[in-house]
Amino acid sequence: MLGWSINLFRIFGIQLAVHASFVLLLVYWGYEGWQEGGLPGMVWSVGLIALFFVCVILHELGHSLTARRFGVTVPRILLLPIGGMAEFDRIPRKPAHELLITIAGPAVNFLLVLLLLPLAWRGLKGGEETSYHSIAGLLDQLWYANLVMGVFNLVPVFPMDGGRIFRALLATRLPYLRATWWAVMVGRVLAVGLAGWALYRGNYMLAVLFTFIFYAGNAEYQAALRKEREEAYWREMARQAVPVTPERPDEPPLILHGRN
Ligand SMILES: [Zn+2]
Repeated sequence: MLGWSINLFRIFGIQLAVHASFVLLLVYWGYEGWQEGGLPGMVWSVGLIALFFVCVILHELGHSLTARRFGVTVPRILLLPIGGMAEFDRIPRKPAHELLITIAGPAVNFLLVLLLLPLAWRGLKGGEETSYHSIAGLLDQLWYANLVMGVFNLVPVFPMDGGRIFRALLATRLPYLRATWWAVMVGRVLAVGLAGWALYRGNYMLAVLFTFIFYAGNAEYQAALRKEREEAYWREMARQAVPVTPERPDEPPLILHGRN
């Protein structure tokens, strides 16, 4: 399903792509804007969504550029209607590296919150009524969107950023796979609770999001489990491999390869 994407342009050498379903999001917001204020309303609405996603891209670049410092290759950043996803060729197993890469995303949002504060201040102070369709209103919404993005991503539901931070912290004490299992389990309990709360509040989009996260966490645990088993297999093979010694010159040398 994630294959249906459209490549946009490269940024810092990373391909930026949008999922096909993203078009539906623009159509939906465009229609909402149209209903509210005709053509100007539509342009405003779509423009606002585009700006929100610029913040999402900056968040993903925070993760990606930090990951690159630790030797991770980042081929693509994919934008989905529910947010962004930076694709890494591997996830560093060093807890300190995963921690820094993960924190870098929400840190960008909090930095934007600080930078936008002087500009958004007038509207936020609430003294005078700020119209939705004004530059002041726009800045308020961008400020608020970044605050929500930063805080929401820190909720410890694996594989959201908060869940990854939790896993990295656990991994300083536990084996990596065990730490992942605990992060996924705690995340699943929270995801069920939060999905229920979202349903109760009538926020169906959020309920769908937490349902998606519930399954995504397990998929990543299964991937970690497969990798662990693969590595255990190669360790075992290496243990069983008889070194080529001068006494056995007729044996072909055993070359082990195949890790990834
Ligand atoms: Zn993130």
